[in-house]
Amino acid sequence: MGKYLWKFFWNCGRMGYLESLFVTTEQEVKEMIGKKANFGEVLGKHSEIYGDIEESDVEKVDLDSETIGKVSKILGDTWCGYNPLYYIPYECSKCGSNYSINEFLIGENMCRYCIENEEE
Ligand SMILES: [Zn+2]
Repeated sequence: MGKYLWKFFWNCGRMGYLESLFVTTEQEVKEMIGKKANFGEVLGKHSEIYGDIEESDVEKVDLDSETIGKVSKILGDTWCGYNPLYYIPYECSKCGSNYSINEFLIGENMCRYCIENEEE
């Protein structure tokens, strides 16, 4: 599936704002909408930035896929800022703990540790 560049923007009032550029599929962005993200203290001590991701927070950036591929080889999926995908907790269907997407397999609905345990 093709990957696109997305811009994420959250106005956090007095504390400032979050802005990021990241690369992912339309499917992943669709699944992200309506989920709770928790960025923690990214805007300073005790800032506790969290809330629901809304459709208007994420915007597709018009950039050709060849360029996206080239830049992603250098920068990875997160070009700048805080990639919201990594701040959405997913609950493991087996152990019940919350994990970020790099420790969770959405297709299996399980954390990678439970999957590793099952494979043993
Ligand atoms: Zn688990």
